Amino acid sequence: MLVDACAIGWGASGRNGGQVIPGLKYDPDELIARYGQELGERMVDASGRNADVVFDLIKRHDIHCDATRHGWIQPAATETALRVTQSRGQQWADRGVAVEWLDRDECSRRLGSDAYLGGWLDPRAGGLNPLAYARGLASAAESAGAKLYEHSAVESIRHKDDKWQVMVHSGGCVETDQVLICTNGYTGGLYKGLDKSLIAANSFQIATRPLSEAEGAGILPGGEMASDTRKLLLYFRRDSSGRFLMGGRGPFHDPRGGQDFRHLERAIHKLYPALKGVDIEYRWGGRVALTRDALPHVHQPAPGLTVALGYNGRGVGMGTHLGKLIGETLGSDSLQESLPFPITPVRPIPLHGLQRFYVGAVVNYYRVKDWLER
Ligand SMILES: Cc1cc2nc3c(=O)[nH]c(=O)nc-3n(C[C@H](O)[C@H](O)[C@H](O)COP(=O)(O)OP(=O)(O)OC[C@H]3O[C@@H](n4cnc5c(N)ncnc54)[C@H](O)[C@@H]3O)c2cc1C
Repeated sequence: MLVDACAIGWGASGRNGGQVIPGLKYDPDELIARYGQELGERMVDASGRNADVVFDLIKRHDIHCDATRHGWIQPAATETALRVTQSRGQQWADRGVAVEWLDRDECSRRLGSDAYLGGWLDPRAGGLNPLAYARGLASAAESAGAKLYEHSAVESIRHKDDKWQVMVHSGGCVETDQVLICTNGYTGGLYKGLDKSLIAANSFQIATRPLSEAEGAGILPGGEMASDTRKLLLYFRRDSSGRFLMGGRGPFHDPRGGQDFRHLERAIHKLYPALKGVDIEYRWGGRVALTRDALPHVHQPAPGLTVALGYNGRGVGMGTHLGKLIGETLGSDSLQESLPFPITPVRPIPLHGLQRFYVGAVVNYYRVKDWLER
């Protein structure tokens, strides 16, 4: 049974960039150096297979979500960033991935923009319409017998008489042996300190009107997804109706109007000057959950109460895969063995109340860093 405070896909799952990208923030060698051979390899393996899991599910359940699998380009705007992408691509190539190296000319041709010095392409990645994917997964779960309750905010969870009691806003109560909290960037006060264990930051997106054939001809003609290496990264792609989508950081507050999206319009014009004057038809934002170690977190603060969240902007693949692994072993002794991440205590971030200022300061710091590294 699933209870969600809003409609299926109302959260980041229905609002994201639809880029299904394998891997985590850290590259394979760094994961192994940080977490040791055994756990590090599990993280590399699981995160490397994220996209396979997503596209297999789409195929198995015949989910109509405009899924395409033409790879992900990570272009670099500076020499330093280029070396990072080369090392990243090489580490995956060493693990058998058929990565492609894009020199400046090839990168410009694939993107349709000469704003970058080169980059690499990960062929495992792909794209989809996120809301259609979320709804498709929900239908598949219902067909398999799951009961889904929308507009049913959970107000509290308590343990009583050997059962968990999940109290819903409407006054209902669900009694169960196992509870999984997966509220990510929309985490409230369901479990002590959980909301303070992550930073809920906004990511914003805009979409142009569908481009004419002539306007769109040179822009990502191969149908790849792209996101660059900036600390405050830009992510962009075309969708199935020919729109151009651009995403990036947003202000700390939820969107208040067109001015909150101007930086994304400027980014489009910088990368694709020919799109100046093309109408922006949609603007929206949503919350990503950032963790201190930039890894997803799994907690089990009490037997039968499990938490999974903190995808750091990479939840389409990682959230799907982690959800599958947890779903297969929740309630069994083999949960930890099956997971690519350790089950850790809930650790609130010190001075969390100042997150508005953290995020503002970090954004400014990275803005300057990106500028200095141009
Ligand atoms: C603009 C944007 C662009 C992104 N782009 C990408 C991308 O291209 N690729 C990628 O991999 N990731 C991307 N992400 C991140 C990705 O969308 C998330 O990591 C992922 O969707 C998280 O899924 P989730 O189910 O854990 O959380 P969500 O989809 O956010 O769902 C959380 C749910 O919790 C519910 N909830 C909260 N409190 C309660 C309560 N008390 N009771 C009941 N329900 C509750 C909410 O209603 C919500 O539906 C992006 C995110 C944003 C916002």
